[in-house]
Amino acid sequence: MRLSDRLRRVVVVGAGLGGTATAVRLLQFAREPLQVMLIERRPEYRSAGVAYHPAGNHWHHVFNIQAGRMSMFREDVDDFVAWANDEADRTGWPPEWSGFTFTESGPAPRRIYAAYLADRLARAAREAADGVTLVEADGEVVDVAVGAGHAHVVVERFSLSPNETSRVTLRADHVVVATGLEERDLPFAAGVADHPSFVRHPYSEAGIARILGTGKDATVAIIGTLLTAYDSATLLLRRGHTGKIAMISRSGRMLRTTRRTTGTACSPCRRRACTARATKAGKACFAASRPNGNGRARSSPANIRKWRR
Ligand SMILES: Cc1cc2nc3c(=O)[nH]c(=O)nc-3n(C[C@H](O)[C@H](O)[C@H](O)COP(=O)(O)OP(=O)(O)OC[C@H]3O[C@@H](n4cnc5c(N)ncnc54)[C@H](O)[C@@H]3O)c2cc1C
Repeated sequence: MRLSDRLRRVVVVGAGLGGTATAVRLLQFAREPLQVMLIERRPEYRSAGVAYHPAGNHWHHVFNIQAGRMSMFREDVDDFVAWANDEADRTGWPPEWSGFTFTESGPAPRRIYAAYLADRLARAAREAADGVTLVEADGEVVDVAVGAGHAHVVVERFSLSPNETSRVTLRADHVVVATGLEERDLPFAAGVADHPSFVRHPYSEAGIARILGTGKDATVAIIGTLLTAYDSATLLLRRGHTGKIAMISRSGRMLRTTRRTTGTACSPCRRRACTARATKAGKACFAASRPNGNGRARSSPANIRKWRR
């Protein structure tokens, strides 16, 4: 099957944050007729990707940065917080969030971001110039061949409607690859891959059910010590886990949102088991170097003063 070749078309592969944001901008800025085709291989990941899809992200999973930094528009940095407070449909939200007022510096559950992205994509499509259209298709892109001035994009299980799927070759004027990170094989875990106590996909409905089904006094080993470890341990602890939770890291890097991190890598000096921050100078050094949530940006002087107290 071949779709119409006459239309100018941009194919965006992957409808996570990167692909969705690219589609939004193309729809906003295109001034000549253009078809923006957004292809996603996992329908439940549309406008979400692994980080935000509701089935795999529990209400306890919050952004790893402040809500005020999650706007998808640099010209309107309050857009996400304003959407969450004034536009989001809160039907079905749990009590801890349903009456919550979101702030620039506060938390927000990651799963609501999917509705935000879908909403902004729909708005961009509605407001696009004449002849500028959005097509959202399911399917897996398996090959891109570049020709003279165009590309051929091969899509398996291509579908514009639930009952109609096939392999297609699309002609595209531009192709944007926004496929995120590929999952890695874990050779060391091959022997336990099917074991009922092993969780390979903590951001899936089954993975969350398995984490929440863990015996409260069970000893749990979490491989890794950053975001996913934090999310998984949070789920266990909020449910009243009393057993030992061991986090294992080959790099020694630890969560940087914890105030007391004795025995772990010190942010300023990078030494493990650094005790400098127990001293007055060390404490100031630690506070000054403390990132404001995601390890990339330094905090404001006001926040640093707050931590020093
Ligand atoms: C668990 C988790 C939590 C995170 N939390 C935050 C946060 O709080 N704040 C923040 O700023 N960042 C966060 N991040 C970082 C996050 O990865 C990025 O913010 C962003 O979601 C990455 O978007 P992406 O579009 O590049 O990739 P993804 O969101 O992974 O999207 C890629 C999409 O491409 C699809 N795809 C892949 N291959 C194909 C193919 N061949 N054909 C069709 N479709 C394909 C995939 O199914 C997927 O939906 C988090 C990441 C993770 C993993």
